Amino acid sequence: MIHLTLSGHDDRYAVEQLLLSLFPEGAEPEAVSSLHRGQTWLTASGKITWNGRTASASRRIRIGDETVRLRRRALQQSMYLAAIRLLPRAPAWGALAGVRPTKLTTKHLLEGGTPASAEKMLKKTYYVTPQRAKLTVDCSVSTVEAVRKTEPNDLSVYVGIPFCPTRCAYCSFVSRSVGKKTELLEPYLDALLQEIALTGQLLKQSGRHIRSLYMGGGTPTTLSAPQMARLLDAIREHFDLSRCLEFTVEGGRPDTLDEEKLHTIFGHGADRMSINPQTMEDTVLRASGRPHKAADVLRAYGEAVSAGFRDINMDLIAGLPTDTAEGFRRSLDTVAFLSPSNITVHTLALKKGADLFEKRENLPSAEEVTEMVAYAEKTLRALGYKPYYLYRQKYMSGSFENVGWSRDGRDCLYNIYMMEETHTILSLGGGSMTKVNLTDGHLTRFHNPKFPEQYIAQLDSVLKQKEEIFQLLDGVK
Ligand code: SF4
Repeated sequence: MIHLTLSGHDDRYAVEQLLLSLFPEGAEPEAVSSLHRGQTWLTASGKITWNGRTASASRRIRIGDETVRLRRRALQQSMYLAAIRLLPRAPAWGALAGVRPTKLTTKHLLEGGTPASAEKMLKKTYYVTPQRAKLTVDCSVSTVEAVRKTEPNDLSVYVGIPFCPTRCAYCSFVSRSVGKKTELLEPYLDALLQEIALTGQLLKQSGRHIRSLYMGGGTPTTLSAPQMARLLDAIREHFDLSRCLEFTVEGGRPDTLDEEKLHTIFGHGADRMSINPQTMEDTVLRASGRPHKAADVLRAYGEAVSAGFRDINMDLIAGLPTDTAEGFRRSLDTVAFLSPSNITVHTLALKKGADLFEKRENLPSAEEVTEMVAYAEKTLRALGYKPYYLYRQKYMSGSFENVGWSRDGRDCLYNIYMMEETHTILSLGGGSMTKVNLTDGHLTRFHNPKFPEQYIAQLDSVLKQKEEIFQLLDGVK
């Protein structure tokens, strides 16, 4: 827990988030963040006591230059400069605390900056390492290209299927494991189809266009082939997809994929599929509570290619229980050998609610995870993949991040629009969140009920909320 005292300002969130990202879990630093207004200078000071040592630092800005952003930056910089006097090594992300470091560089590029000046800003102003600065700016270059593919009336749609066949040991997501109990799936689909029908009608009235469509979960392919066909028929009936650039269905677990289902999905218009091994080591799969084998991934990948999919994403996770740097290398090499258009490399972030959260047994060390991530970057760049989106998880220790890599310019646009919050994401289904992007760049969030049972029971209020969302959208035209 962080003990933070403020003096002369009340920007607790900015300073606290930075401290949480800098100090390892379980550390209890005592910090004082103060702001002093003099005649000419505004001075931000940070003082930290940790493990019996104290360090302090300050940054100042001229009173006439003061803005909220500069003031916040000075507060964070002073705290960062104090912290690195106590930490064993400077953190890779420097004084950047946010989940989306690319937002800063994307804004810089959209305002006319160059990739070189964006990298320089990250290194000089935020103390980010050259490697992370390059990674971030590469992603922002992709974002700028993706933004140029959109028009003001465009938005993206997310359809959520919060069910999985079983629950992975590292998962904290609210999805329902169906196992053999599939009785909730039909009523859930009935409710979702009503939300789709109303949303389609509201979209037509509003003149908004769908630019990307993403069906995620849970594991959407928990649905049977006929259920999937029913859902995809409804999507095609109610949504105008004539301007939609990509339609992704997340297969996720290879144990939910077979030839019939993959043909059904491709035949109903989805052109992008995600098949996520997480690891290609059978022992690691077992330790992670995933009841499939690496061979199932190879089979599902081959079936997806035969069904017609050319854009396939494969997720890997660095840091799974019992995995080693060598095991991760084998996994990455096997996946890269398949040459999918996208590979996403996550780092394990255990959250409350995951079976592994309390136990934390057999996890690779931070050094090993660092080695895994470095190997992924080196190998993927050498094979012609480039990073196109990244995000850090809150409180992710070890300064790690999740990075999406693509080749031949086949970035997943939805991932970019959603992560960079460049336009409205309209979300349907249980546990989903709509983010309305207002013209001033501010977001308004609307949540659907978390669990499938609640979503079904509260469908009337879900539909009412959709109408409110479109009233807001129509107001920002
Ligand atoms: S497939 Fe994904 S959402 Fe489902 S239990 Fe595993 S990690 Fe969680």
